Amino acid sequence: MAQDRFRLAPNKEDLGELIDAQINASGPITLAEYMALCLSHPTLGYYRRSNPIGRQGDFITAPEVSQMFGEMIGAFVAAGWTSLGEPERFDLVELGPGRGTLLKDVLRAAAGPKGLIEAMRLVLVESSPVLTEVQRRALAPVEPLWCEGVENINPDGPPLIVIANEFFDALPIRQFQKEADGWHERLVSIGEGTRGFILSGGVLPRRTVPERVRSAAPGSIWEMGEDAEAAMVTLAARIAKRGGAALIIDYGYEQSQAGDSFQAVAAHRRADPFAAPGEADLTAHVNFEALADVARLAGAVPRKLMTQAQFLAAMGIVPRAKVLSKGNPEEAEMVKADLKRLTAADQMGTLFKVLCITAKDFAPYPFVEK
Ligand code: SAH
Repeated sequence: MAQDRFRLAPNKEDLGELIDAQINASGPITLAEYMALCLSHPTLGYYRRSNPIGRQGDFITAPEVSQMFGEMIGAFVAAGWTSLGEPERFDLVELGPGRGTLLKDVLRAAAGPKGLIEAMRLVLVESSPVLTEVQRRALAPVEPLWCEGVENINPDGPPLIVIANEFFDALPIRQFQKEADGWHERLVSIGEGTRGFILSGGVLPRRTVPERVRSAAPGSIWEMGEDAEAAMVTLAARIAKRGGAALIIDYGYEQSQAGDSFQAVAAHRRADPFAAPGEADLTAHVNFEALADVARLAGAVPRKLMTQAQFLAAMGIVPRAKVLSKGNPEEAEMVKADLKRLTAADQMGTLFKVLCITAKDFAPYPFVEK
């Protein structure tokens, strides 16, 4: 780039400097571009640098809270395989398996029905080489296949059962802000030495914004999860063609709405998303209505959305907690606290939702209603 000749070259080890150099050279970037650089830059992105999940890391996910979470998903997988007619082959696919904890619990709990483990091939969708290594070690001697993105899931093959916990919230979003003349995109720029938002000059065509959001008050923010929708289109097309279901668990909203849910977390605390690119986890709430809509367009059936509390209750988490407490009375208090954390309305119980996407002819328990 010609302008680079007039400035000191950026420090190639500093993602912030690289991003600033790009903005200085070619102008402000969308929030999605900023998030993608921060999370997935090939050498300095957040998920490529370190091991972020767990008590020692930046954030804790449900499978890291308690084994009961993965066990309930294992029960879903087992019941699903049985109601698919116990096919001789099926692929169990996990999107964004983190440290592999969820899958370990799922495999243990799904091993009940005879022939299931023999029929199963494991496919892990993971973009981070660091986490791929962590997963390989956690799951040994089981040997899964890995692929980098949802688009690498084979379009042909046996039925699929897909699970994804806190995967979609990690995908980049764009944000738009309502002004008197319409919706302007929030772009990441550098003003007075610090990174921050500015508004684009142009406005979005009105019809792009969901009807429910159009009449929001001036200053309102609306988020577009293009990457999440694209991933869902691919996933839904695979399920429509191959058969089976996908279980998507994440925090988010049931219907499109205005609001700013973009956040940065480091060491279990909210952080400034612009202060240290690549050092904090960046996420946004998932728009389940938008995901269900695109899944339907891609030929799959979105089942009625459940809260995490409803899903876990239907899968039998309460009796499971009783069994665990009885078996280890000294851990009964902890089991009780974990159950509360996963299911209470003021904790993960209602903020987290469960969306099940299925092929047309398949309604796995507990998603029997449309
Ligand atoms: N499911 C795990 C981890 C959630 S963190 C748990 O519940 O503990 C998000 C996971 O998604 C990480 O494994 C991360 O590396 C992966 N990931 C994030 N963006 C991705 C992308 N675009 N493609 C593939 N994997 C991605």
